[in-house]
Amino acid sequence: MENKKILVLKGDGVGPEIIDCALEVLNVISQKSGIIFNLIFGDIGGAAIDKHGGPFPKETERKLQDVSAVLLGAVGGPKWDNIDPAIRPEKGLLALRKALGVYANLRPCQIYPGLIENSPLKPEYLKNVDFVIVRELVGGIYFGKRDTFVENGLRTAFDEERYDEEEIKRIAVYAFETAMGRSKKLTLVDKANVLDSSKLWREVVGEIALDYPQVELEYLYVDNAAMQLIRQPSSFDVILTNNIFGDILSDEASQIAGSIGLLPSASLGANIGLYEPIHGSAPDIAGQNIANPLATILSLAMLLRYSFGLQKEAEQIEQAVTKVLADGYRTKDLAQHEFLGTREITDEVIKRL
Ligand code: NAD
Repeated sequence: MENKKILVLKGDGVGPEIIDCALEVLNVISQKSGIIFNLIFGDIGGAAIDKHGGPFPKETERKLQDVSAVLLGAVGGPKWDNIDPAIRPEKGLLALRKALGVYANLRPCQIYPGLIENSPLKPEYLKNVDFVIVRELVGGIYFGKRDTFVENGLRTAFDEERYDEEEIKRIAVYAFETAMGRSKKLTLVDKANVLDSSKLWREVVGEIALDYPQVELEYLYVDNAAMQLIRQPSSFDVILTNNIFGDILSDEASQIAGSIGLLPSASLGANIGLYEPIHGSAPDIAGQNIANPLATILSLAMLLRYSFGLQKEAEQIEQAVTKVLADGYRTKDLAQHEFLGTREITDEVIKRL
């Protein structure tokens, strides 16, 4: 019998509720398939600050040695907004990603048939929308030098956007490989008309493209990409971009899909995969049984697929989620009138497994 080890980091805000839902789904998958999932639990973010004095404690880092995958809720919240910036909850997440070396963040976006009316876009713009954002996750401005100081009597601050060619190459290869498994179209999103770092991205991605002549490569400036995502989202297949542009564009993409509570993510490229919904800890709705757990449940599906090769089980979860939405069940973020709670919509997913 197989034994698969997962580190579960529930985090803050809605994190614990949505992770519990995903674990219920995993339990059902385990019963149906006979596969044993060995779960260990750890602290991250604000919860870790409260318990251990820092957002990514050594104890959590040590637990990474034993596992093949990490399932994460979300971190942060107003309770920790005014603490020392060096130990903010979000720093824990960045440290975790860096420790794992997961440089490729995949964020798929598709329109579920029953949710067309939830999108702010007109239905005619939503036909055939199915793309994936490949975001560089462990470099760029979120990890560059930064400082705040007084110069010439003025408060001044800077954040450095820096990439070397190796960092660009490995994510580019990942994106081309992803495109090869899809419609063979890749859009590089950058700001090469202004930024030197973007010019280097164009150069390096152009070089990698020579190894993938079957893939159609297109370049878009990020401001134009933000516009095209709304004007013609179906024109995209694989979007390759840096850390900060990917962060912003994927939140925009979540609205095309109807809610941020629907978009999962997988962070790959190293031995251990990291899986989390794209949303934050949503402190405004935490503890009320109204958070949408589907992004986390879909992140679990990605975990089964990418870390354990359990394609069939991943599809079963994705189909169950699709069916729940097609059958008209909604959480509050998606509902006009009646809606189900976090736990109750999870029960509907489980019924359809
Ligand atoms: P957020 O994603 O937490 O929330 C934005 C809005 O979306 C809120 O109105 C929230 O209620 C709603 N929302 C989010 N997830 C939802 C879900 N599953 N179901 C229904 N509605 C949902 O972003 P924010 O408000 O900017 O940040 C809140 C906290 O989360 C901050 O401390 C921020 O730093 C942190 N954050 C963490 C992560 C992460 O852990 N990966 C990502 C982004 C923000």
